This record gives sequence, structure tokens and C-alpha cells, in this order.
Amino acid sequence: MTIRSITPIALDLPFEVGGPKSQFAGRPRQMAMLLVRVETEDGIVGWGDAFGYAVWPVTRAAIETLITPMAVGRNEDDIDALMSDLQRKLHIVGRTGPVVYALSGLDIALWDIAGKKAGKPLSKMLGGSSRTHVPAYASLVRYDNSELVARNAKAAVARGFKAIKLHETSVAHVKTAREAVGPDIKLMMDTNCPWTADEAISIAEQVREYDLMWLEEPVFPPEDFTALARVRRTGGVAIAAGENAMSPTDFRAMFDARAVDFAQPSVTKIGGISEMMRIARLARERNVTLVPHSPYFGPGLLATVHMATAFECETMVEYSFVELGASPLGDAIDIIDGRLKVPTGPGLGRDPDPAIIARYTVT
Ligand SMILES: [Mg+2]
Repeated sequence: MTIRSITPIALDLPFEVGGPKSQFAGRPRQMAMLLVRVETEDGIVGWGDAFGYAVWPVTRAAIETLITPMAVGRNEDDIDALMSDLQRKLHIVGRTGPVVYALSGLDIALWDIAGKKAGKPLSKMLGGSSRTHVPAYASLVRYDNSELVARNAKAAVARGFKAIKLHETSVAHVKTAREAVGPDIKLMMDTNCPWTADEAISIAEQVREYDLMWLEEPVFPPEDFTALARVRRTGGVAIAAGENAMSPTDFRAMFDARAVDFAQPSVTKIGGISEMMRIARLARERNVTLVPHSPYFGPGLLATVHMATAFECETMVEYSFVELGASPLGDAIDIIDGRLKVPTGPGLGRDPDPAIIARYTVT
């Protein structure tokens, strides 16, 4: 059959972070979500999710001006053929960033449609195990304040999380968090690319005593896999990265450089489920553990949970530790005992709530 329409829908959801909200591009951080609604000629609706953050207006423009004219009227059944064709046609306007976030949203929606047509949950479409839950870790926002780090780390443990990731760059905050949660909780440090390799090695040596499961994105630029590999070799702490990689080819280069212990592709950024599953196969061949990047609350999080059942490694899904004032997916993304449920309905297993969409859509 054919794709009849592609509609981007931006939501701005109310949320609290357990402290002051950071600024980005001159305003307080939003919980923005860019849903991608795809409808076929026979009336089946699939939902995708393009990386939101502060870039959603640009991604929405990419959907409206590039993706829609190229994909409407095409056959939705051969996802690989359509996505490969769009990747090739669009490479001249960027192999990462808003155009690829837009492609990611389309790809997720097409997989949702395929699952709905087959009457199977996505986990089964991808050959996943019969796991009913996948473990999640609490991904705390950056507080840069020891009292707030300690309070929110303890709150995450009280919610049932067995693993907690900080977005801090100071050794003192890591020490505080370790003291707050005790020795039995897994602790990770995500730094968002601040340092040179030498600076990162110095920090790695200082945080080693706090038993980190991984140190994430310690060097800038994120694509400098040689520098990252040097930090991994000499810093004495396991390394995670991948949310800023742009393709399976990039992950291959990352693995060839022996730059990471944990690979973190993001389904709403990397090109969707199709590209993510290619990376999963590559990671399995190279014996690298996948721990997907997924600090969002839309169809991208559900897609990540389904895919996690198909990864051969033991994995954890990233869960943004914020208090959402309204959940577009209702209880489908509730944390129960530090885990997320694998939906059992066809496709992604849960459509966004029309009442939440009506209330929180931004134009
Ligand atoms: Mg990160």
C-alpha cells in the first residue's frame, strides 16, 4: 500500500527536575517531543518520535519540506527500500542532525505500522526474547550542586532504580553520589564532551575509586575516537559513547578504534529502528554492550524497550529521572521496581493519548 500523510506534532510537556532547570539557547530547558504521525491509504496510523530537545522546530521543518514530499505516495511495506532511498537522496543535506532525526521519526512510525499490520508487538517483529520487562537506569539531569545530587540520587533509589547516571563533571559530585547511594547501586558519570584526552584521563584517574560502571562522552569532539580510545586505555574506567555518532559506519569506526566498552545509539537520532538494529548486530560481532540512549518519553522510548529484548547482551534502558506532569503514553512507560514493561500490543503497543496531544501541542 502507500503512505497517505506524514504529520509532525510537537508537544511541550510539563515536568520538574527536583531542582532548578538548566538553560539552553537562552531559555529554560523544555521537555519537547516531536511525534511523527504516519497514515497509510488503508487508514493504519503509526507513530514515530524524532529527537526533540531544543532542535524540534528545525526537525519539523525537515519533515515538512523534505521527508513528506519524498515519502508520501511510497510503499510503506518495504521499510528498508524506502529508508535506504531517503538516506541516499538526503545525504547532501547532512548525515546527522535534524534531517536524520526526521528520518528516525519516520522509520519508527513505519515499524509501528508493520507491527500493527502483522498483529505482533515490535519485540516479536525484531526476533526479541519473551522478556516481559527490561531494566532501566535513572538518568539524572545536571544539578552542579552536591545537595541536589545527593537528594535526587537517593530519590531514584527510593523509586526502585538499581543504577543511576549523573550528568556532572566534578569529581566531588561523584563522591557525593556514591556516598548517598552506597556501594550496591551502579553509578555512571555522563559529562557531555567537555575535555581533551589528557584532561579526561586526569578525571578518570580521580573518579576510579568511586567504582563507576562507565564514564560517558568525556572528550570533545565526540567523533575523535582515537582520543576516546586513549582515555579508555589509560584512564582505568570503562567508556560509553554513541548518542552523537551518526550512522552504523560511525559505530564501526568507534569499535575498530576500540574506543568504547558500552555503545549508546539513540533511536530518535540515528535513523530509527532499522539503523539501530544494524548497530546491534555489529555490537554483537564485536562484543560491545549496547546501552541505548533514550532520555525521552515518546514512541522512541517504547521502541527502545522492544529492541532491548532483541539485543543479545544484558542491557539497561536510559530513563530520564524527571517528574512528568503529563505522560502521552500513560502507564506504558511507568517504572516498576526499576524496570520498564515490554508492551504486548501490536506495533509499539501504545499510541499517544489524543487528550494529551490536544492539550500540549505547540505550534
Ligand atoms: Mg549522554
